[in-house]
Amino acid sequence: MSPEQILAEADRCVKCGYCLPHCPSYALSADEGESPRGRIALIQALVQGTVDTPRLHQHLDSCLVCRACEAACPSEVRYGQLISAVRSLQNSNKTPGTIHRLGLALLTRAPYKQTMASLAGGYQRLGVASLVGRLGGAAIRRLHRLMPADIRSETWKQVYPATTATIGRVGLFTGCIGRITDRPALLAGIRILNRLGYEVIVPSNQRCCGAMHRHAGDRREAESLARQNQDAFAGHRLDAVLGVASGCSSRLLEYGEEDTPLAAPVMDISNFLFHAPNIDQLKFQPLPKRVAIHTPCSMKTMENGRSAPYQLLRLIPDTDLLELPENGLCCGAAGLYLLTNPDSADTLREDKINGLQQSQAEILITSNTGCALHLAAGIREAEMEVEVLHPMELLARQLSD
Ligand code: SF4
Ligand code: SF4
Repeated sequence: MSPEQILAEADRCVKCGYCLPHCPSYALSADEGESPRGRIALIQALVQGTVDTPRLHQHLDSCLVCRACEAACPSEVRYGQLISAVRSLQNSNKTPGTIHRLGLALLTRAPYKQTMASLAGGYQRLGVASLVGRLGGAAIRRLHRLMPADIRSETWKQVYPATTATIGRVGLFTGCIGRITDRPALLAGIRILNRLGYEVIVPSNQRCCGAMHRHAGDRREAESLARQNQDAFAGHRLDAVLGVASGCSSRLLEYGEEDTPLAAPVMDISNFLFHAPNIDQLKFQPLPKRVAIHTPCSMKTMENGRSAPYQLLRLIPDTDLLELPENGLCCGAAGLYLLTNPDSADTLREDKINGLQQSQAEILITSNTGCALHLAAGIREAEMEVEVLHPMELLARQLSD
């Protein structure tokens, strides 16, 4: 977006304030500068050159880019595009902070190096975890607290053949940190797809989706990653490219708006499976447990994103499914926000953890990597016995042979 396009989009805001109750940073502060309406006014002032103060940049930096305001806006202001565009303008005038640079490099590049993936596999076993927990700086110690106890590395195969008569071929997007932390969900998804007759292609040259780079205003790297993923998924004659983490899937969907669409339609894996023509042929073991479903902000912006996990998990007999109480505002994970704004991230999580406790659910379902890590850390801190799972993990666990 050029400065003129930013101003034209910002001018569509009529300052009605309907977005305010949906904004997590406004809920934390009750400060107009921390609201979508306030930030849009600040963006207008910055681009017009009338205000440029450290406080203005703080207000823009503290946005979680959850886009809840966008969904609530009657004027359909494309706030997500506005904040990304203005952050790239800000980024061209400043050096990103150390946590941002280290965090981005560690989370989005290292997981593709086999040595790093293997190290992650031995994270707990070799005592690296306790060493990191004791010696690392504040951000590293926080990252350590977010990591699940059981991390294993995986050597991803390029092709996972169907285990019944083949009915199609899909590409699987693993994500960067997700290829380590979402390993059980990815393998569970592959198992179900193969059982339905889908051959699953996992291109080895795929890269991070670039969501965190885009949110941080690093437009050049975000576009470079989009082009690399475009190449990685081209030439496989795929019916769809499926994402397991909704944060990544919603970024992959944005490629289309930026002239780098992938070679096949991008879909969240739960939505794809629910619409698979033979999904009714799968049989599942009953699960007489209460299961709460958390809907990540990124899932709310996707087609059928709110309902697909419910529709799919209803296939498991006897399960008592309910919406996670206090599901409305962002949980505070929001890309790197949980590392860069730890106190606010934890405050936003509190309502979810309290709601979960009151619901007496034994399992919490969520479809996004960052939310899963953040919520699971909160559950551990509250010493609750609640398992955090991706819909694919629960589905595969209950799948009858
Ligand atoms: S709801 Fe839309 S038009 Fe109204 S203040 Fe918020 S961004 Fe502006
Ligand atoms: S993206 Fe989220 S945090 Fe940012 S202004 Fe909109 S509602 Fe608030």
